[in-house]
Amino acid sequence: MRAKSAAASHVGKIRSNNQDSGYAGAHLFIVADGMGGHAGGDVASALAIKHVTSVDRSFSSVSEAEVALHGALISANAVLAETVFDHSELTGMGTTVSGFVLVGSELAIAHIGDSRIYRLRGGLLTQITSDHTFVQRLVDSGRITVEEAAVHPRRSVLMRVLGDVDATPEIDTMIEHGEPGDRWLLCSDGLSSYVAEDRIAAALALDEDAEAVADRLIRESLDQGAPDNVTVVVVDIDGTGDSAHHPAVTVGSASDPLAIEGEAPRKPLRIPTLLLHPLKATKPDDSHFEPESEEFLDELIIEDGRRAKRRRISLVVVLAVVAALITTAVVAGYQWTQTHYYVGESNGSVAIYRGIQQDLGPIPLSSVYRETTLSVSDLSAINQSAVETTISADNLADAERIVSQLSNDIAD
Ligand code: CA
Repeated sequence: MRAKSAAASHVGKIRSNNQDSGYAGAHLFIVADGMGGHAGGDVASALAIKHVTSVDRSFSSVSEAEVALHGALISANAVLAETVFDHSELTGMGTTVSGFVLVGSELAIAHIGDSRIYRLRGGLLTQITSDHTFVQRLVDSGRITVEEAAVHPRRSVLMRVLGDVDATPEIDTMIEHGEPGDRWLLCSDGLSSYVAEDRIAAALALDEDAEAVADRLIRESLDQGAPDNVTVVVVDIDGTGDSAHHPAVTVGSASDPLAIEGEAPRKPLRIPTLLLHPLKATKPDDSHFEPESEEFLDELIIEDGRRAKRRRISLVVVLAVVAALITTAVVAGYQWTQTHYYVGESNGSVAIYRGIQQDLGPIPLSSVYRETTLSVSDLSAINQSAVETTISADNLADAERIVSQLSNDIAD
């Protein structure tokens, strides 16, 4: 008998733990991609999946299922916030959730984050969900192209997730009509970011059962190096909507015991968890998710502009500082030369110079301090020669002493 649905998950080749979770039940099919350091991601996706499985049951209408699934995600969000409240080391954890409840051949879909739901119908692959990422916003608003988004430095920044940030996260819901022969795929970005869509479509189009295709998709990601955790759920629609005879399959971190150390004692006051949030040192994992708001989007764009401007200003400041340092050194050096004196010749007379005998290129480093009445030509030949080649003095008093010495030599 062909399996109608299958779930598979792999830690990948780089990560040390699997923060993804997946579930394929009787009516509910779902993936979650957790994030947040210190085991937070495992806990977030596992908690969300375990909580949402409460809606793996039959519904009398697809719209009833849609409301129930949406409600389950909202209350999973509250569970995550409460867990963070009890375990502050999990602060900043969050998770994507993309899933659907099958009612007959109709699908009630709920989605938040950047995991994806695809439909293969008649060989054509269609992405049903839209990523809640910063770059998708930029694409939607025409600021960048899809090609630019794929290599954008902020491509992993999520605008919306379940977590401890927002009490009422904005969750996309929709109803889709399934047709017999449809093959649906739910996956974490560990697949969609690394395996090209035509490869995904080709794997889904194979005449193999859901389980074989799920395994094949995991292998495709591993073949690409699998830098991230990868989780897939494959669901075949046969029109009966009845897959209750398949045992539910849980994969990823939701299939392991919850990685929270012990159960912390419950705080007596639990209602204000979210109200207390502004007081907590919440620091979201900045590589993955940030709070959602239009202002935030604009801030990021303005911030990028500011950063470029800051770089220009920094360069100007550095150049100014270097110039100031050089000026200071030159001034200090010049001042040092001006504490020195020597005796030389000026306009045929013996003169005291302030500064040093050398010049710095075209810049003289000395000037006449005082021209004496003593004529060089009156000096002895030896003294004339000495004055013409200059006589160094220790200081001004020493220079004056040298002058009076020369004067005495004439008098003698
Ligand atoms: Ca991921």
